[in-house]
Amino acid sequence: MQPDAEGQLRAWVEYYRELGVYDFYRSEGQATAAEPTDEPGALESVQARVPAPIEVQPQQKAPSAATPVPRSAPQASPAGPTPADMATRLVSFDKLAPVSADIVPDAQRAAALQIIRDEIGDCTRCPLAYAGRKQIVFADGSPTARLMFVGEGPGADEDTQGLPFVGKAGQLLNNMIGAMGLERRDVYIANIVKCRPPSNRVPEPIEANTCSQFLLRQIDIVRPQVIVALGSTAATYLLGVKQSLSALRGRWHTCRGAKLAVTYHPAFLLRDPRQKGEAWKDLQMVMTEMGLKPPARK
Ligand code: URA
Repeated sequence: MQPDAEGQLRAWVEYYRELGVYDFYRSEGQATAAEPTDEPGALESVQARVPAPIEVQPQQKAPSAATPVPRSAPQASPAGPTPADMATRLVSFDKLAPVSADIVPDAQRAAALQIIRDEIGDCTRCPLAYAGRKQIVFADGSPTARLMFVGEGPGADEDTQGLPFVGKAGQLLNNMIGAMGLERRDVYIANIVKCRPPSNRVPEPIEANTCSQFLLRQIDIVRPQVIVALGSTAATYLLGVKQSLSALRGRWHTCRGAKLAVTYHPAFLLRDPRQKGEAWKDLQMVMTEMGLKPPARK
């Protein structure tokens, strides 16, 4: 086993022990979630292996009430899903909880977000807590932003600085925001997971699902008009579907009362700059929706 994989497995086992789960079983033919990728078309082949989206009962009242974090493992019926199955289900943010009609007044949003940050504390709710993260990366930007960007998870620079998108991908994201006629401080930036996955791997479903409750409440407080999902991990968990970026780009989706557009992750654009034109088309769709004009050329 690779040292990375061994560390990851150790973190999982520790995490489950904290929940009171000591015995592990492997059912015949159990599907595993494949790693999302930003390569256009690359996801179609793995769709069949991913559990279908499910309807769940509302678990929380947004935005003011917290979803209680289970301190002991839920008991599965012998024929029903195991706790691990439940934790790895793919459910859209819209189906996780009803969108509240209550809107947090502008002047109270920063404080409301801080309450969530305080509740997260020095989080140990998922295996990422034991996988070498330095600190939790909550979010950056305006609590009253009309536009929100959601990425995958912090990288090394973000883990060090405690802010999302501050490394090379962050510089490109800043340029993308500038090209839309906005400044970084005008928008709200967050990630699917708030802790750095080891070696920048894609977050596991259990990690993303555990962290979702907090991002969901951040979205409900900020109430952006438009959310841009950066890359397939963000799109997968926000929308609760596993599809290729090419199938998701170029059209509107909805998420918690906001319109949601999908585009390439800036890190992918750094690896394949030829796709920048395509990403610009996605951002232009957003600009038209929001009535934004690109800045005048100097
Ligand atoms: N990549 C992400 O998805 N998020 C960050 O914050 C940085 C890099």
